[in-house]
Amino acid sequence: MANPGAKKKWISEQACVSMAHTCNLYCIYCHNPPAGQKKDIRRTAAELKASGVAAVSLEGGGEPTASPDFFPWIKALKGAGVVKIMLSTNAVALARADYCRRAVREIDYFTVNFPSHRAELYGRITRSVKFPLALKGLENLKALGAEDKIRFFHIISAANYRLLPEFALWAARNFPRAAFVNFTFVRNKGRALEAPRIVPSYAQAAPFIKLALAALKLKGVKAVVQNMPLCVLRNCEGFSFEFQRWRRGDRVLEGGVEPAAACRACVRCTLARACCGARPDYLKVHGDRELKASKKDPAAIKPEAF
Ligand code: SF4
Ligand code: SF4
Repeated sequence: MANPGAKKKWISEQACVSMAHTCNLYCIYCHNPPAGQKKDIRRTAAELKASGVAAVSLEGGGEPTASPDFFPWIKALKGAGVVKIMLSTNAVALARADYCRRAVREIDYFTVNFPSHRAELYGRITRSVKFPLALKGLENLKALGAEDKIRFFHIISAANYRLLPEFALWAARNFPRAAFVNFTFVRNKGRALEAPRIVPSYAQAAPFIKLALAALKLKGVKAVVQNMPLCVLRNCEGFSFEFQRWRRGDRVLEGGVEPAAACRACVRCTLARACCGARPDYLKVHGDRELKASKKDPAAIKPEAF
């Protein structure tokens, strides 16, 4: 539910365009893996033009830059009146300086799926040997003056949650001008279903998440955490992405995200209107024992910088 009292500052109208059909990584947790089907450029552009959408995010169904027609897509979108483009990418293709330079000219924000700053762990999570390329892609963005266009997208999983504070310090040291770091709790969907142990419990991950958020705050880097219920973020609720959406008057959950699972605690909780709740896929693994009804007024929660 949106916050009816808030002034609208959020871009709700951003359309998600899943133009990818393949990927150059094979992440263990990929919850929306490529299906190999290509979208029609012209039809998509015509639909966007008709709807008058001015901002799109290229995400879902694979890695956009793994498609040979990536730049023709950008041209078609701009021809359809799109003025802002956010690219969700693993940054591997950005290791090529000429490709990265061209992307920087065309793209407003780069949301970079980067699951570990440690090469060995990155390799295990993405089942690839492309850590040096992804890192080079990030370094190229920085060298080209686009560091502030980087939004780190760091999926929290059983493989990396203990290293979240270390990752936070690494990000702050190497990319202090990044737009922000988004920690997103893994969803038990897509390929994650083949590896259910990839989903930690909230209780296991929460202390490390809080340390990581605090470290980034101390270093002056903006950070949010997504897909974590407010009751498991006690004293750090202001970092919740969904709370921030609610506060700014947007719907709490982004389009395409499953509604919260029906839980006894949530029915009695005053935070429910500003909270993402638990996804039903999480409850299948860990149940709802960790969720605790609150009497806090969400309007009394102090938002962190975002
Ligand atoms: S999570 Fe992203 S980078 Fe990883 S396999 Fe899926 S689409 Fe590719
Ligand atoms: S009890 Fe439910 S609504 Fe309340 S904070 Fe926890 S998950 Fe959110």
